[in-house]
Amino acid sequence: MQHDAILARFDLTPAAAAGTLTVRSPVDGAVIGRVAETDPAAVPEIAANARRAFDAWRTVPAPRRGELVRLLGEELRAAREDLGRLVSLEAGKILQEGLGEVQEMIDICDFAVGLSRQLYGLTIASERPGHAMRETWHPMGPCLVISAFNFPVAVWAWNAALALVCGDPVVWKPSEKTPLTALACRRVFERAAARFGADAPEHLLQVTVGGRDLGAALVACPDFPVVSATGSTRMGRQVAVAVAERFGRSILELGGNNAMIVAPSADLDLALRAILFSAVGTCGQRCTTLRRLIVHRDVRERLLPRLKAAYASIPIGSPLDAGTLVGPLIDADAFEAMQRALETARADGGTVTGGERVLADRWPDARYVRPAIVEMPAQTAVVRHETFAPILYVLSYDTLDEAIALQNAVPQGLSSCIFSTDVRETERFLSAAGSDCGIANVNIGPSGAEIGGAFGGEKETGGGRESGSDSWKAYMRRQTATVNYSDALPLAQGIRFEV
Ligand code: NAD
Repeated sequence: MQHDAILARFDLTPAAAAGTLTVRSPVDGAVIGRVAETDPAAVPEIAANARRAFDAWRTVPAPRRGELVRLLGEELRAAREDLGRLVSLEAGKILQEGLGEVQEMIDICDFAVGLSRQLYGLTIASERPGHAMRETWHPMGPCLVISAFNFPVAVWAWNAALALVCGDPVVWKPSEKTPLTALACRRVFERAAARFGADAPEHLLQVTVGGRDLGAALVACPDFPVVSATGSTRMGRQVAVAVAERFGRSILELGGNNAMIVAPSADLDLALRAILFSAVGTCGQRCTTLRRLIVHRDVRERLLPRLKAAYASIPIGSPLDAGTLVGPLIDADAFEAMQRALETARADGGTVTGGERVLADRWPDARYVRPAIVEMPAQTAVVRHETFAPILYVLSYDTLDEAIALQNAVPQGLSSCIFSTDVRETERFLSAAGSDCGIANVNIGPSGAEIGGAFGGEKETGGGRESGSDSWKAYMRRQTATVNYSDALPLAQGIRFEV
């Protein structure tokens, strides 16, 4: 495997060989690193370092902070091939998706550079004579970023690019399954910071390595006023409570259970391509993976046989080989969870096509599967649960009301879409009485969000938001200032003080 050469290009060769956290590639199960772990007892020191960095960084003008992020974007462009390949090796995504993830990082840097000159507040008409009121957005403080294995680098960039232009240093705890890509990102950041010069304080970015215990210790620390956590709803529930306990602010991007409604007027060729891309891409390990197909009864028989035929011919194999569309599951636990879900679906009356392990002879220590289609008689509990694997449940409907109700009847509600050429249906789907998801698409699948829009907004987080749109406000605090430029001191109506 080429991981040694890639790690060397990020100066990680000794660092990735001497630690206690063993990193295995899902491609073949081979050990690709042993990384030093961060002791949870070190959290107060990490927090103090971040606090010192904050004291310096918050007074650097925002457009100048943007310059650092511009340089980060340049360094990412230079490292795109290596980092994309490392993502493939460590997270098991096909190479195009690894590269695409790095492209997202570059895009959010571009976005954030522009943003660094647009951290606008309002001026407000005061009711008092001789007074001016304005609101200013100030940096909030050190931002803790916790990320999931399946977007090992982009999630950090969505947060870090915004946090940095907003004046917040970043402490990052990546998934314990993907520490190497995180350490590589740190190296890329260091290159940008070195070019930027002395305005960038030490410890502007700190990367920590560890699992749930380290995450919990960081989350509990009151020195991180902003905690952005991306992962399962199980994790989100724990983080939300711990952060609320100390009146911190959490930004949560959690699981999805995303549906596609295929209406009678749908362009079925278009729908078929979208289903394939969004249901089997990244081996079903995207938060926006298509997990539920809600098909009108009239088109079901025209769509399903074609879909099954397409599934049977999907190229499954090493994500590093050109031509592979579906790579491995992240590990054996993910495989077991998939098999358990399929068993439950069968017990609920579902008919399963696919889902079996493949390529076990070639890669006994990895877990490759054929993506599964499961025709369900009803939306049972297993369908409403996010199983992080390539399982597509198929349900039928007769009326659009019924389809929308089915789609909305899950707790997660991250992304959604409808395939229809009937404007009355599509507009209804996008209306207040339509999809209840943070992302609602028409004639495009649920996967592949662009950085310009705020991501997520799922029900289970109360609408968490990272990335574009006005997400930056979550990394800052708003201050409203009133300036009296008169020689009077008008108080509330009717109140007079004699002095
Ligand atoms: P996970 O919840 O197991 O872990 C995510 C991160 O949280 C890891 O870094 C983990 O160490 C940490 N963590 C776990 N428990 C914690 C705790 N109590 N306190 C602090 N940190 C804790 O998720 P995963 O398996 O790595 O990723 C898959 C999940 O992430 C799926 O549910 C997927 O939908 C979701 N996801 C969502 C988005 C999004 O933007 N909405 C993006 C990527 C992944």
